[in-house]
Amino acid sequence: MAEDDAHTTRTDQLHFQNPVTRYPSITPPEQHQPEPGHESDLAPRADIGEFSYRGTGRLKGRKALVTGGDSGIGAAVAIAFAREGADVAISYLPAEEADAQEVARIISESGRKAVALPGDLTDAEFCRSVVDNAAEHLGGLDILVNNAGKQIAVTSLEELPDEQLEETFETNILAMFRTTRAALAHLGEGSTIINTTSIVAYMPSPTLMDYASTKAAINNFTKGLANQLASKGIRVNAVAPGPIWTPLQPSDGQPKEELPEFGQNTPLGRAGQPTELAPAYVFLASPESSYVVGSTIHVNGGMPSP
Ligand code: NAD
Ligand code: MG
Repeated sequence: MAEDDAHTTRTDQLHFQNPVTRYPSITPPEQHQPEPGHESDLAPRADIGEFSYRGTGRLKGRKALVTGGDSGIGAAVAIAFAREGADVAISYLPAEEADAQEVARIISESGRKAVALPGDLTDAEFCRSVVDNAAEHLGGLDILVNNAGKQIAVTSLEELPDEQLEETFETNILAMFRTTRAALAHLGEGSTIINTTSIVAYMPSPTLMDYASTKAAINNFTKGLANQLASKGIRVNAVAPGPIWTPLQPSDGQPKEELPEFGQNTPLGRAGQPTELAPAYVFLASPESSYVVGSTIHVNGGMPSP
């Protein structure tokens, strides 16, 4: 399979296949996108599941909000949720309108309701209003996926500007406290919250000091909140991706000279595609994971993780 074909893969996730060769080992050209990156400008394109994710009714009638649902992992999760029968609201930055409309189209064509909610999660007021608007447009809320994230690689601590430090913490962890707090007004028994953490929470990359710290905080937040909400019948879990080919990477998420080798150091020898994350989120969102609380599912191509 050519690298660019991943985007249009038609073999679904339930088809028995070799994980090494399910997707090509990509060697992305050195490239740069201004932040936030765009799915449509990724080279090679990634598989967010438009043609490959097959639903089996596991989230029938559920109502979900996915932050950062316009691209990458969030887009793959939003599409998979729709294919599984859920109505889905996605949040994203205003600059990502084109990517968001594309995901909304795929959700609608999957026969489910799509709600597009642009705004900036570093704004505390937006963290509240995005949740309330999602619940209003969907007629309730029972799945919250806290997935939006900011990742900018910086060589040394001395070169890490205060502005970036604060924005990374605002986006990745403070917003997660705020959206989750707002969601508690809507989430009932059987609801689920799923937070996107990262392999770097355990193996901090030296160029991602601020980002990796927020991911460790997300792990702690996930376990503490899971304990706090379990008796209410609300389950909280996390997914920890390894190297996944998304617009985060070429928009300063990695030093650009490292992009051609992105993901090749995993035991599977290739970067993950966004849609390969989706089944973990579907599992944690669905009632079949009823006894899974405060856990982390590692989807990282075999990188050693706790
Ligand atoms: P992505 O760029 O496609 O998605 C990140 C999204 O975050 C953006 O689309 C944007 O909508 C949103 N976002 C960023 N700043 C925001 C802000 N201030 N307000 C509102 N939304 C904002 O990249 P992705 O890789 O799919 O990232 C999704 C999540 O996965 C992130 O939490 C990221 O840390 C995590 N993750 C990614 C990888 C990887 O290799 N790609 C690995 C581990 C964890
Ligand atoms: Mg995006």
